[in-house]
Amino acid sequence: MKTDVVVLGAGIVGVSTALHLQARGRSVILLDRRGPGEETSYGNAGLIERASVIPYAFPREWRKLWRYARNNTPDVSYHPRFLPRVAPWLLRYWWHSSPERLARAAAAMLPLIERSVAEHDALKDDAGISHLFRRDGWIDGARTEAGLARVIAHAEALAPYGLNHQVLDRRALAALEPSLSSVMAGAVHWRDPVSVSDPGAVTRGYAALFQRRGGQLARGDARSLQAAGKGWRVQGVLGLIEASDVVVALGPWSPDVLRPLGYRIPMAVKRGYHQHFALEGGASLSRPVADIESGFVVTPMTLGVRLTTGAEFAPRDAPPSPVQIQRTRALAGQLLPLGQAVEREPWMGCRPCMPDMRPVIGAAPNHPGLWMAFGHAHHGFTLGPVTGKLLAALMTGQAPEFDPAPYGLRR
Ligand SMILES: Cc1cc2nc3c(=O)[nH]c(=O)nc-3n(C[C@H](O)[C@H](O)[C@H](O)COP(=O)(O)OP(=O)(O)OC[C@H]3O[C@@H](n4cnc5c(N)ncnc54)[C@H](O)[C@@H]3O)c2cc1C
Repeated sequence: MKTDVVVLGAGIVGVSTALHLQARGRSVILLDRRGPGEETSYGNAGLIERASVIPYAFPREWRKLWRYARNNTPDVSYHPRFLPRVAPWLLRYWWHSSPERLARAAAAMLPLIERSVAEHDALKDDAGISHLFRRDGWIDGARTEAGLARVIAHAEALAPYGLNHQVLDRRALAALEPSLSSVMAGAVHWRDPVSVSDPGAVTRGYAALFQRRGGQLARGDARSLQAAGKGWRVQGVLGLIEASDVVVALGPWSPDVLRPLGYRIPMAVKRGYHQHFALEGGASLSRPVADIESGFVVTPMTLGVRLTTGAEFAPRDAPPSPVQIQRTRALAGQLLPLGQAVEREPWMGCRPCMPDMRPVIGAAPNHPGLWMAFGHAHHGFTLGPVTGKLLAALMTGQAPEFDPAPYGLRR
């Protein structure tokens, strides 16, 4: 099979890139070892996080670090034996999290974040999946007055970004989400973000649109990628695929394909878990709610309420160790009348994270025709479509809508 571009990875980033290349007249094959949207893009919390204008930084306060070091919090956990291996990456993450560098990272991310909802909107109607989207924001809730003061201070610090938000006291929160218990002292309701009831179905919906417009899906192992003459070759299950350009959009697996080509990608993963629960007694939830003191999110999804955990530092391929689900299950049960778990075992996925808190989007420095789109960390579901549009513009020689330099591999 010959094509203009083969996109490796059918997560939200790869599928969106394929759609945007196709819209610019390129023939595209989208290759994955599984179906579209079955990995990280399936299991996230379903937030299109328009209000996340400051990336998640490494904590710099000693009190917080000491709290995490004890390895028993619901929001962060780690495999102690993994720490020496991940320490150099953590050090870089810490370095990039200084107030000045974090401000630079936030400025770099802003053009992506502020277009995130509009770029999903530009795809979802054509994909026929508007019913999966909810436009009623999400809630950052706090159990203590001190926690509430922190969320409010954070919201006030973001005033220059002009984000739409409302502070809710206990009564106002109960009016908005009547099934939430009164355990929360109050919350900030972020109104610009959008959430979805099934992120995997959104990614599949976009992939189906790509197919309806003449794109091809293929199964295969991206690690078979090889340079071939002036182009690229990858082995699909149904045969060899040749293309003049290739996009690596393999999320947490991107380094596996790039290492043999000589690229050392400084990526680590923050693993995370989810499990769905039925709600008892006719309770319901209308939008995602985060518990800021415990670092989990509950999102109403098609399968039930999805409880999503914070970060686990562990080898990407190590067996799951879902202690955070165990720790947060009881805490989430204080918020909502959670019933039976829908799945026997929690789902596990890996946030692909670069130490400077920005994704890699752009050309590979040493190989013509090799392109990169990965490392979206906590916000890949949010940023898939805008990433696809930016990369497709770069690949087809169009002027990008904003400066792509902050996302280059050699930034
Ligand atoms: C618990 C959790 C909660 C999150 N919540 C949110 C949220 O609310 N909002 C948000 O914006 N983001 C969230 N994220 C982050 C977001 O899910 C990711 O950043 C995003 O899904 C990454 O998308 P991707 O397309 O880069 O990777 P993926 O979706 O992982 O896609 C990569 C694809 O590559 C394929 N692949 C891998 N290796 C090979 C190979 N050798 N050959 C062929 N194919 C291969 C995989 O099968 C997969 O389909 C969360 C993540 C986690 C883990």
